[in-house]
Amino acid sequence: MAIAMRVDVAVVGAGLAGLMAALPLQAAGYSVLLLEKSRGLGGRLASYRLNGSRCDRGVRYLTEEGRLLSGFVRSLRQRGVLEPWIEQGHIYTAEGLRLDSPRTHYVAPEGMSQIAKELGQGLTVWYSRRVQTLAPESEGWHLGLEAVVEGSEVPLEVKAQAVILAIPAPQALPIVETLPGMTQEILTPLASVSYDPCLTLLAQYPQNGVPAEIPWCSLEFPGDRDLSWLGLDSSKGTSSAPRGDRPLVVINSSPELARSHIDDEDVTPVIEHLLNQGAAHVGDWLNTPETTHLHRWRYAFPRQTWSQDSLVLPTPFPLICCGDWCGSHQVETALRSGLAAASATNAQLQQHPLPTLSQLMNSPPK
Ligand SMILES: Cc1cc2nc3c(=O)[nH]c(=O)nc-3n(C[C@H](O)[C@H](O)[C@H](O)COP(=O)(O)OP(=O)(O)OC[C@H]3O[C@@H](n4cnc5c(N)ncnc54)[C@H](O)[C@@H]3O)c2cc1C
Repeated sequence: MAIAMRVDVAVVGAGLAGLMAALPLQAAGYSVLLLEKSRGLGGRLASYRLNGSRCDRGVRYLTEEGRLLSGFVRSLRQRGVLEPWIEQGHIYTAEGLRLDSPRTHYVAPEGMSQIAKELGQGLTVWYSRRVQTLAPESEGWHLGLEAVVEGSEVPLEVKAQAVILAIPAPQALPIVETLPGMTQEILTPLASVSYDPCLTLLAQYPQNGVPAEIPWCSLEFPGDRDLSWLGLDSSKGTSSAPRGDRPLVVINSSPELARSHIDDEDVTPVIEHLLNQGAAHVGDWLNTPETTHLHRWRYAFPRQTWSQDSLVLPTPFPLICCGDWCGSHQVETALRSGLAAASATNAQLQQHPLPTLSQLMNSPPK
């Protein structure tokens, strides 16, 4: 017989928005379960190991911009997770390479996913479980899960008083559109959101394969047909948390290039193209990496966004959607939206006092 887990709130998606929704609700006394289809926390706050070297293949750095984000960065610095990386990035324009306006770029030397690991310490998370179905029952929601990897099959059912979908709107839509009473009008906010994709190339070089002095660490390509960003990822390490023993560069494609190649079976031509385009700007050495790895982000950056902090659906039990698509400030929006979803859920449940972000960040993890 199938065993179902019962909780007050099921949060689908363990990215930043999901973590920000789960933390205040758990602190207020609700039982909370996070369901995540991948094997780790953080979503697009993603780190990767290439030949033993740590690198970031999602969020590149954080800055103290935005009310929530600046407090978040300060708290993560105090907890020793974030360190200043550079004081100024570079921009490549038609006139050539120039310095961007000064603003400190903060990174987690151990990898940006360390931020999510730090936040998620006291939370219950089921990994490798994709939420596929949602159905109202007499006392709450029934969630049907799919095991993404072998060994995560039991249990595959969850019952919850309330559900928060903290996932990109195009991934939330198929879960909610089959619910009873869902009209086109109700679904319009989800259906109208769109994302730009991104191809992220990790390229690792032999020690003697790069110039002794590389004049940039973070290089933006506004308006470029093929590239959006190039970063010297190996420079994010510190002496106490080195990233690896070989230089590593991260290249993010433009949305246009990603749209044309996201489903390519053979990725060799697009890898060569990204390297060639990058080399044309920074030097031929970029063309000869030792190892490469290409990641396809289908939902990388929100393009068409929803105008409110979260989306409360008119369902018999609380069902709230949130994520970085609820605004246009990426990580700042994900923080704000997750907190808004927690607050909207609480308003429909016990209306407990919820901690603020600064109270959450300044209390030791449970
Ligand atoms: C290459 C790249 C670079 C970036 N750089 C920056 C940057 O420098 N600064 C910045 O502010 N932002 C940056 N961003 C954007 C930033 O990563 C996002 O805005 C933010 O992390 C979004 O958080 P989220 O929680 O809304 O979504 P996500 O991080 O996408 O989290 C959603 C989670 O839900 C899971 N999920 C999806 N569907 C299901 C399902 N059915 N069942 C279970 N789990 C599911 C996913 O696996 C994922 O873990 C970057 C993004 C990319 C791709």
